[in-house]
Amino acid sequence: MIIKKPTINTKNKSIRLESEISLEKDKENLRLYFEYPNVNIKQIIPTMDSFLVSLLLVAMKLGEDIKLDGNISPKLSYNLNTYQQYFKNFLNELKIINILPMGYEIKKPHPTKGSMCSFSGGVDSFYSFFSHLPKNQKNLFYQIRYIYFIRGFDIGNNNKSSFDICKNSYNKFAKNYDVKFIEAKTNFREVFENILSWEILHASVLAGSALNLNLTKSFIIPSSHKFDYSKSIWGSQQVTDFLLSTEYKEIIHHGADKSRADKINFISSYPETYNNLRVCWEKINGLNNCCECEKCLRTMSILKMINKLKHYKTFKNYSIEAIFKKLKTLHSSSGKAKNPYENVDLMIKEYYTKDINDFKNNRNKYN
Ligand SMILES: [Zn+2]
Repeated sequence: MIIKKPTINTKNKSIRLESEISLEKDKENLRLYFEYPNVNIKQIIPTMDSFLVSLLLVAMKLGEDIKLDGNISPKLSYNLNTYQQYFKNFLNELKIINILPMGYEIKKPHPTKGSMCSFSGGVDSFYSFFSHLPKNQKNLFYQIRYIYFIRGFDIGNNNKSSFDICKNSYNKFAKNYDVKFIEAKTNFREVFENILSWEILHASVLAGSALNLNLTKSFIIPSSHKFDYSKSIWGSQQVTDFLLSTEYKEIIHHGADKSRADKINFISSYPETYNNLRVCWEKINGLNNCCECEKCLRTMSILKMINKLKHYKTFKNYSIEAIFKKLKTLHSSSGKAKNPYENVDLMIKEYYTKDINDFKNNRNKYN
């Protein structure tokens, strides 16, 4: 794989970094871009690091060394060896490859205090957001200053209306906390997702896209799973995300000490989540959750158990019986889970209160 030096284009107040990628396989030439509609040119550091990080796992899957038409961060280059070893250990289909830059270069770190948090409006995003407000995070250097919402991830580039609804709402939400909203867009999924699953790729593309921004030193990736779950393979991990850091950008994996239930409990004390919580990736429809898929139902069951579901405008306020019934139907038809209430049981273990005991009894009706 050859990664050409990215070009910078400014069009309609949007800055696009685009690179030509040549694959040895099929002798194909592809184009990958990252676009930033609401930043100025001074807030961009065009780097090869960004494209390298985003494409590393793809090159490993193809078994192709990466040749770069420019310099890369020495720290990143060193840490990507460990990154490769980790993913190779889990996924036999990947090969350890050589990374061949023209040379090494340390870009200037940005002096601004504060952090930027990736934000998609889900439980993990809100948890990391609130955790970095000044009242919860006393260290000035890590208090939240920006949220970062990227298009072309869960909301596809062909669904502008949903993206715009979420964008407007998250922008307003962030403003109330004096936090700025940063938007990005990429065509990565359209070009490379057929090579390796998005479940594996997403974190490296997210981190890669953020490396071009010269706004804060640190970039927070909200954890998807608690430490215990990290044994299964998933693109974003406590043990690997930080390896995508450079001298000028620290990549932080935040929140892996908490279960999803813990996070839901925490964020539900902030009423601003009532109109904004969006967990569904199955059927994207603005801020609305489908209330039928496993992720929606799992989230709803926990909100119901802590008596908060009634406040959420982005979910239907089903009874706990209805939620459990739907979960059971879903699991028995998918045949995936041995215990259809696995996640709910976890919640019960953690919050063993009288209310939850009642819910547990209700659940037994459907066993
Ligand atoms: Zn859903």
